[in-house]
Amino acid sequence: MSNFFKIKNYINGEMVEPVAGQYLDNIEPATGQVYSLVPDSDAADVERAVDAAEKAFPAWSKMPAAHRSKILCKIADLIDLDVDRLAKTETIDNGKPLSLARSLDIPRCSANIRHFATAILHFHSESHVTDGVGLNYTLRGPRGIAGIISPWNLPLYLLTWKVAPALATGNTVVAKPSELTPMTAHMFSEICREAGLPPGVLNIVHGLGAKAGAAIVGHKKISTVSFTGGTVTGREVAKTAAPFFKKVALEMGGKNPNIIFADADMDAAIQGGVRASFANQGQVCLCGSRMYVEEKIYPTFLEKFVAAAKMLKVGDPLTEGVDQGAVVSKTQLEKVKFYVDLARQDGGKFHCGGSSPTDLPARCRDGYFFSPTVITGLSPTCRVNQEEIFGPVVTITPFKDEDEVVALANGTEYGLASTVWTQNLARAHRLGDRINSGTVWVNCWMIRDLRVPFGGMKQSGVGREGGLEALRFYTEPKNICIQVPGV
Ligand code: NAD
Repeated sequence: MSNFFKIKNYINGEMVEPVAGQYLDNIEPATGQVYSLVPDSDAADVERAVDAAEKAFPAWSKMPAAHRSKILCKIADLIDLDVDRLAKTETIDNGKPLSLARSLDIPRCSANIRHFATAILHFHSESHVTDGVGLNYTLRGPRGIAGIISPWNLPLYLLTWKVAPALATGNTVVAKPSELTPMTAHMFSEICREAGLPPGVLNIVHGLGAKAGAAIVGHKKISTVSFTGGTVTGREVAKTAAPFFKKVALEMGGKNPNIIFADADMDAAIQGGVRASFANQGQVCLCGSRMYVEEKIYPTFLEKFVAAAKMLKVGDPLTEGVDQGAVVSKTQLEKVKFYVDLARQDGGKFHCGGSSPTDLPARCRDGYFFSPTVITGLSPTCRVNQEEIFGPVVTITPFKDEDEVVALANGTEYGLASTVWTQNLARAHRLGDRINSGTVWVNCWMIRDLRVPFGGMKQSGVGREGGLEALRFYTEPKNICIQVPGV
């Protein structure tokens, strides 16, 4: 019997073992070594979680919004008090640099919760006077039990992004975090208990997607499903949910264009471009993995961009000053290598990277590292430029004019996000309109306002999260129509 720490499921307010007693290894990406065990839950565990969520629903949904809000704000406060421990845990679990976990991931978790905990206090429904005949008003109530499935790249950030609006609106939740990064969700369970979240309101079942995840999506008592993950998985989730006519939001992959016009502030575009290409080892759905640079500045831009990419320090993510940690798993590393090999076969020119670094500290010898990689000379239609790699790999392609770059930007099946660098205000607005993606950033990347609708077009998503969209997603509108002659 191994001595590794065993993560437990969080069901009905208790930390419980999986019914079948089975566990999976949880591996630290920076070392490639097992460091804890995660429940390999199945339909029986999901059943227990649904049962608890069902029992908790009447009281939680009827609780005054201000009271729910107070409990959620307490959870946010406890996260803030525990940033250092949570950030370190996330770095060990995920491989991302500690500085990133501390400055972005964990603060965003409490921000998510506080945002929706306070938004619910201002959420209102509509009423319509039907001239001379009657009065309509809309009731909006929680939909019941929400099933939430989240990925590994921003583990607690994306879990709380969904859990917070679901709970704020009075739903109860059965959630499954990624089996690759379960540890911060486990700590979150402890925080929820400490904050006094009533038992059964949030239940976290750990395990594999095809087993525990599919059991959640296919459970007939779960009426709302919010999923973030890959497009292939999203298709499975949609198929499983469809026969039950569930309300489903799918946040999926991206192959986001990052467009630099000749009139852009080049230093800002390089700095922003390096972040957009390599943040979190390129494992952000919003990363700009296809760069398009106007011909006039292409040689200078390329030289400066490659020089900046080469400055990134790859190393032990727990060490201060490291810019790039490990990718999340051996499978993900192999996927990155597969696409890099494809780029080689397609005649791509490598300006930096293209392999794993060789100068890692001894602790990280067996970790899953890959150097920041810049490739040019590939056709816009090749697989490397069409498919999501989700690693520290960026391609750069020159373009002639606005029409050409709009066609290139829109020329994939994805439509999650895009970035445009230009000083020309009219062009910025025009491209904002012409590029088919859920978010278009101008002269910036990854500025997030939690009030705006967030999501993707085409194969990147269905439905929107964020702000009012999320509060609406987790509630069911019902129209009441009263005849009022003469109104
Ligand atoms: P993934 O699709 O492999 O897994 C996501 C989650 O789905 C995990 O919890 C997994 O266990 C679960 N899952 C797998 N099969 C399932 C099934 N049949 N039924 C139910 N659940 C199942 O994705 P990943 O590798 O964890 O994350 C990376 C992907 O997520 C990338 O494609 C990235 O672009 C995407 N992503 C999108 C957004 C967005 O907001 N659009 C944000 C972050 C990540």
